Amino acid sequence: MKDKTKVAVVGCGPAGLMAATVLSQAGLSVDIFDTKGSAGCKFLVAGRGGLNLTHSEHTEAFAARYGNNAEIFKKLLAVFSPDDLRAWLRGLGVETFIGTSGRVFPKDATAHDILKIWVETLSRRGVIFHYHHRWQGFAKTDTPLFLTEPGELLEFPAKALLLALGGASWPQTGSDGGWTSFLAARDVHLEPFRPANCGIEVAWSEHFRTRFSGKPLKNLLLRCGDQQAIGDVVVTTHGLEGSPVYALSATIRDLLKKDSPVTLFLDLKRDLPLEHLQKKLEHPRGKESLANFLRKAIRLTGPAYTLLREMCSPEDLKNPTILAGCIKNLPVPVINTRPLAEAISSAGGITFPEVDENLMLRKLPGVFVAGEMLDWEAPTGGYLLQGAFSTGYQAAQGLLKWLGRTHPTQPPPSPNS
Ligand SMILES: Cc1cc2nc3c(=O)[nH]c(=O)nc-3n(C[C@H](O)[C@H](O)[C@H](O)COP(=O)(O)OP(=O)(O)OC[C@H]3O[C@@H](n4cnc5c(N)ncnc54)[C@H](O)[C@@H]3O)c2cc1C
Repeated sequence: MKDKTKVAVVGCGPAGLMAATVLSQAGLSVDIFDTKGSAGCKFLVAGRGGLNLTHSEHTEAFAARYGNNAEIFKKLLAVFSPDDLRAWLRGLGVETFIGTSGRVFPKDATAHDILKIWVETLSRRGVIFHYHHRWQGFAKTDTPLFLTEPGELLEFPAKALLLALGGASWPQTGSDGGWTSFLAARDVHLEPFRPANCGIEVAWSEHFRTRFSGKPLKNLLLRCGDQQAIGDVVVTTHGLEGSPVYALSATIRDLLKKDSPVTLFLDLKRDLPLEHLQKKLEHPRGKESLANFLRKAIRLTGPAYTLLREMCSPEDLKNPTILAGCIKNLPVPVINTRPLAEAISSAGGITFPEVDENLMLRKLPGVFVAGEMLDWEAPTGGYLLQGAFSTGYQAAQGLLKWLGRTHPTQPPPSPNS
């Protein structure tokens, strides 16, 4: 049964919508706000490349994906786990499946379908959606303040506030990090936003850039520092993009910050051990061009071959031992990471010491935070959305506790209850 306790959730991304789900299910009167004209803009963008909702690996390994925050996420995942997420989605009518890589995807449903059912379910439950409302901090009375589309300021009295305003990548989706000044003004410590899961910049020659932009380099092993990743990458006008690049991008970003030169090493023939490769390259090539020889001997062609030519000296290419070493460990100098606006996610935001275990801001009692606005990062693979869902769930539970409400120990069992 609904009571008169009015709470405000700001941000209609996965974290905010999950919080609204928990709070409305507990019977509170929930108003949810967003600066955009509709919900879940970034969630829809995530759906374009195959919506990877979460991952099937066990909790210990899953939590380790959050790096320095692994212990915090171990607890958060215990409260709302990947299995809870899948069960909750089933309740919404969305089945999921585990792909060959262990990643979890929706079965027969798009991000748009999920969002539509979710928003309709919340609306049916009485959650009121206010679009084109930009959170602008607090009024003198400490009530949340919004700038509405006609340019009017609106104070919205609520017993508690839950902010889920996202990070600062893809600002066109509404997550532009513009909220930071309002919390910094209240002495909340924030780390500057940095790109995470992003492409890198390489000073390609004009020839390489024009000839190979958009072309893939397949089945590589990439190394940087003590990290490595395998898979396909794509040559872009600026440098390289693709899952293995994203996986190394945090390491690259942090090394670049130290002002040290950063080199990415590519193994262009990762299935061929160095000794085998060396043997193949030791065959006399007679009058054959290097291009023909490498194509026939080890099927090295296209951008991989041209990259080898560009990154190695002509002398190195003549010596089979050195050539084999170059193919297995081709150095590519990195000049930068791609800008924050293009990144899949962001690091930075509200640091964890600023919140208690219920994700309430220590300096602003009654204000809870969730999702990518907190300072955490994780690789692609479903860890980002799971992080948003789990923090949204936990912050809502914290809010219920703070209001003195008994809170359910189970995740929302059914969207229609
Ligand atoms: C191209 C791309 C692909 C991705 N693919 C995946 C994937 O497959 N799997 C995965 O796990 N993750 C993926 N992600 C990441 C994932 O989408 C995000 O981590 C997730 O959406 C974060 O959820 P959130 O609720 O914290 O924030 P967001 O989804 O960013 O939502 C924040 C909301 O707050 C609103 N807002 C911001 N400021 C204000 C304000 N001042 N006032 C009012 N409203 C405001 C925004 O409009 C937005 O609706 C992808 C991201 C991108 C860009």
